[in-house]
Amino acid sequence: MRILITGAAGFLGSHLSDKLLADGHEVIGMDNFVTGNPDNIAHLAGNDKFIFFKRDVSNYIFVPGKVDAIMHFASPASPNPQSKSGYFNLPIQTMKAGALGTHNCLGIARAHNAKFLLASTSEIYGDPLVHPQTEDYAGNVDPVGTRAVYDEAKRFAESLTMAYHRFHNVNTSIVRIFNTYGPRMDLEDGRALPNLLKQALLGQPLTVYGDGGQTRSFCYVDDLVNGIIKLLYSKEHLPVNIGNPVEMTILQFAEAINRITGNKAGITYVDARSSRDPQRRQPNIERAKQILNWEPAVDLEEGIRRTIPFFKSKLGLA
Ligand code: UDP
Repeated sequence: MRILITGAAGFLGSHLSDKLLADGHEVIGMDNFVTGNPDNIAHLAGNDKFIFFKRDVSNYIFVPGKVDAIMHFASPASPNPQSKSGYFNLPIQTMKAGALGTHNCLGIARAHNAKFLLASTSEIYGDPLVHPQTEDYAGNVDPVGTRAVYDEAKRFAESLTMAYHRFHNVNTSIVRIFNTYGPRMDLEDGRALPNLLKQALLGQPLTVYGDGGQTRSFCYVDDLVNGIIKLLYSKEHLPVNIGNPVEMTILQFAEAINRITGNKAGITYVDARSSRDPQRRQPNIERAKQILNWEPAVDLEEGIRRTIPFFKSKLGLA
């Protein structure tokens, strides 16, 4: 297939590009580098199956030649208010990437009779009142809350995707991505894994926000990419959760990072997030298991070990 990936220079977009190229597909990468990083795709320069366009997908986009599939991964995604690349500091761009960007990509899919896959998110569940989250749970999101620019853009994107499927018969899929980590994450984006692993490798205390009792479920990037590619090939039009169902508190997560890295500096508690920090998050992955025959294979210890060399090299410790 010839596959357009928006956000191709991002953390997930670049891993998807690598895997699809390895599987023999052609990839057309697009990114405006607002949060993506050219370093993530530098190794693809000279690969004649990969072409790249620097574009903002919220503007009209033209793709030369045929397109068989479009994977819309362009968006800021970090909720950290301190981070320059987080969506708190890019609120309008975030809403445009989710709304106008999704519309443009669906237009291309319709014109080319191509498959469309939307990168959605566990954030559409907001601060969930149902636990673990199943795909039929409609979520708990405040439309004027501080996270709304991301959550509501992705919720709109899901609605628009289903409208194109139902009204224009476009072949669409929606993946709801839960917390994911691995090499090529932006060390400065303020999310839990980059912050804590960076601190641990530098021998600093790990900053746990609040009392650390809030939970997350962390998936290694290779597992996530395998699930998404299975969804790309499937005929499933309803949303599918892809994530690792092993839930832990952020305090347990921080302690695991200290143990794996041998960091002796311990933990420091800081009050850095608003009260809208979701308190619990865990995917129910029964739908992915049944429809895609997918489940994650890499546990947290192995995933962190695979991530450390990238972080060390970025920190000049390698
Ligand atoms: N967190 C933390 N310390 C940090 C960064 C994040 O305790 O240095 C917590 C944050 O409050 C949240 C969880 O880790 O409860 C996951 O945050 P992240 O930014 O990775 O993404 P989220 O799951 O909130 O979208």
